[in-house]
Amino acid sequence: MRAGSSAAAPGEGGGGAVSRRGSARSSRGPGGGYTANSFRTEGIVLRTHRLGEADRILEILTPDHGIVRAVAKGVRRSTSRFGSVVEPFMHSTLQIARGRKDLHTVSQAQLITPYATWLAADYELFSLAAAMAETVERVTAVDADGAQAQFRLFHGALAALSRRRHTPSLILSSFLLRTLSAAGWAPSFTDCARCGAPGPHRSLAIALGGMVCEDCRPSGSSRPAPETVGLLAALQVGDWGVADAASDLAVREAAGIVGAYLQFHVERRLVSLTVLEQMAQAAPPAPPR
Ligand SMILES: [Zn+2]
Repeated sequence: MRAGSSAAAPGEGGGGAVSRRGSARSSRGPGGGYTANSFRTEGIVLRTHRLGEADRILEILTPDHGIVRAVAKGVRRSTSRFGSVVEPFMHSTLQIARGRKDLHTVSQAQLITPYATWLAADYELFSLAAAMAETVERVTAVDADGAQAQFRLFHGALAALSRRRHTPSLILSSFLLRTLSAAGWAPSFTDCARCGAPGPHRSLAIALGGMVCEDCRPSGSSRPAPETVGLLAALQVGDWGVADAASDLAVREAAGIVGAYLQFHVERRLVSLTVLEQMAQAAPPAPPR
């Protein structure tokens, strides 16, 4: 983990020869002062909570610091210098002053992309974005690479939703599969999830991690349509050429499978699950296979 390393850097490495006696300059010197006590980061607001009359606590997803909690002061006054930059789904550059424990303070914010404004115009899109934000909070990345992947995935999904680049429910399904993969829970939709035998296979066993061969197949495993399995594999790697061509039936069956997989790995019930169930239930009954 490299979290926090940028702040520690000025006092490390080649700084050993610097005299520490010059206390008059110490407020800006290595290991102390402004640079150590604040950091600059790109971030997307996941959610906000009210704090007192005028302030708000923000939960912000960042590429290098994971989820940062920071107070934005005076945001509920009409004269606030932050404006709408601190609303959920706003993407901005932030200067964060380090606080005690894990609660920091936003000292500057500059808008990069107004996703909140674009999404607010459509209730369905806004709901999907909220479901994704909740999942980000609950599914923690395993390491620094995973945390960077989570930021990229959330950013990419908001951009795709805002611009309606693909069917919105597919954007959610792909985001969830890839976020679970970044957390170390990548399902397998091609090779057998248990023994690794090359696929494609016909049986799905959520508890074993995806599609399984006939030898590994537990009783009661389901048999999704081959098109659905191909769609899931495409969503997992972001192959939109395949995903955009999928039938409605496959889209809905995939939503049900992603929901079951998410439910298996996340103890707490998430909004994403309700959304996925609604998408899956809209399906006509599947023909017996
Ligand atoms: Zn097997």
